[in-house]
Amino acid sequence: VKRQGKNGHQFYSPDLDLQLLDHIEIESDLRKAIERNELELHYQPQFHAESNQMIGVEALVRWNHPKKGLMSPGLFIPIAEETGLIFEIGTWVLKEACRQMKLWHDEGGPLIPISVNLSSQQFHQPNLVMYIKNILEETKLAPNYLELEITESMMMDPAVSIAILQELNKIGIRISLDDFGTGYSSLSYLKKFPIHKLKIDRSFIMDITQNSSDKAIVAAIISMAQHLKLDVIAEGIETKDQLDVLTENDCQEIQGYYFSRPLSAEQVEQEFFIPGRI
Ligand code: C2E
Ligand code: CA
Ligand code: CA
Ligand code: CA
Repeated sequence: VKRQGKNGHQFYSPDLDLQLLDHIEIESDLRKAIERNELELHYQPQFHAESNQMIGVEALVRWNHPKKGLMSPGLFIPIAEETGLIFEIGTWVLKEACRQMKLWHDEGGPLIPISVNLSSQQFHQPNLVMYIKNILEETKLAPNYLELEITESMMMDPAVSIAILQELNKIGIRISLDDFGTGYSSLSYLKKFPIHKLKIDRSFIMDITQNSSDKAIVAAIISMAQHLKLDVIAEGIETKDQLDVLTENDCQEIQGYYFSRPLSAEQVEQEFFIPGRI
């Protein structure tokens, strides 16, 4: 949607789009989406840059809306969060992601973990650990193959967050700090959070080949991760030049369109798993 700006410029705002969509209609459609089997997961592979090995996949939800077509999570996850539907959707996502990865493991696919995005409300639900444990038992995926992606902005109360993270750690789940660098959490907490991985936000990668500040920030994050003995992955790599800057700075784990877009389960099997084995 294009609107006329104050000084005559045209500007584009995704927020305006969201307002213009029939919020109520989406909400009521979303309530039925799960039972109607309209949600699907796409999977974006993550790679080790030098060896080209697939080291993981991130599950990303899509909604196959009967009229609007395939809707991106940016459009309906905020509505799901506002209305509390995020719990039902989040449960479906977790179960489906674990089920799929267990199936791939069983069928001879690579023994890699699956990353699942958690909303703040899910992270703070009172019975989170028991709830996750139940999903792992139901789907029979080993806990060390589940990685939860959370963001700094969810950890407004560090003491509470640390307690939740420690419990998740105890059952063997991996934690990745998504969109790293965009939140406001104090760095001094980083060493206290029991997490495994920093995921450098795409906003620092976009202009990394031209913007020396972005490059410096990314280099600092990588070096800090190494000192804190955390894994580090960069997201949103679209070009060879961006990849080169990252590998020069010793970031080996990479996710982005340059390697692969998010794909359906079938496409992942066809493009990346050994034919005939799966
Ligand atoms: P995110 O967790 O930061 O996910 C990365 C987003 O960047 C994905 O968009 C992915 O398709 C996109 N992306 C990956 N590589 C590239 C690249 O090289 N260039 C560009 N321009 N984009 C790239 P997507 O799938 O539309 O998801 C948007 C956001 O929606 C996610 O951001 C995440 O915050 C949220 N989301 C997605 N699935 C779930 C879910 O199951 N639960 C929750 N709570 N949130 C989800
Ligand atoms: Ca993510
Ligand atoms: Ca991210
Ligand atoms: Ca993001």
